[in-house]
Amino acid sequence: MHCRWQHGLMLPAGPATIDVPFEYRHQCWFCAEPCHCQLHYQAGQHTPHPSLTVPACKECLRLAKKQPLTSIWDCQMAVKDELMRIYQKHLAIGVNWTQGEIEQAEFDPDCKIFGGFRQSAWKMYLIAKARVNFQGWPLSINGVPLDDHSYSVSFAFDGMNFTSISQAISHYSTSLGLDQAFLQTLVNKVGRDRFGYAVRIARINIVSTPKVKKQVIADIVNEQLAQ
Ligand SMILES: [Zn+2]
Repeated sequence: MHCRWQHGLMLPAGPATIDVPFEYRHQCWFCAEPCHCQLHYQAGQHTPHPSLTVPACKECLRLAKKQPLTSIWDCQMAVKDELMRIYQKHLAIGVNWTQGEIEQAEFDPDCKIFGGFRQSAWKMYLIAKARVNFQGWPLSINGVPLDDHSYSVSFAFDGMNFTSISQAISHYSTSLGLDQAFLQTLVNKVGRDRFGYAVRIARINIVSTPKVKKQVIADIVNEQLAQ
């Protein structure tokens, strides 16, 4: 059964749900927060795994939907990058203070006013840190592992090394003034091996309307289907 996707046959139902270890039940695969949502990841032509469904919290689901990229692992990195950006201030608390300082503040009468604030700030830091650091459990469907560790999320292009493809996308979007969402969609459709092609298409369409961009994506998809 696990080989069906490898032979290019479509599964009749929606994407298969990944196996969830008992200790992670009702937890987000991206950040380990309690969750009730699911991300349906649609595998494209260049995705090294089948379509699949992973449990996700509301926030990670929203972030993941924005950047499916070329695999669930690239998507995971993009979600982490976004969480780090969103919770930058919370994460900085751990850099500025130590737990000892927080505890000491509790017994210091001068710090009474700030004591409570610091305590809650420290809690927010711990939560943000745990969410960003959570690695997700290894993916498998019906007991068959999907990750053989041959897939690397780091990415090199034009002599530059990036920790993730989402970082490469945001780097080129910023430095070349490209539409980031458009470039993300292009990379999702053409695959990471044709990153340069995706950047070129994004550059050509720098002043194109959303309607034209939509057509460009549709043309690329049709072109690939015809191949
Ligand atoms: Zn989450």
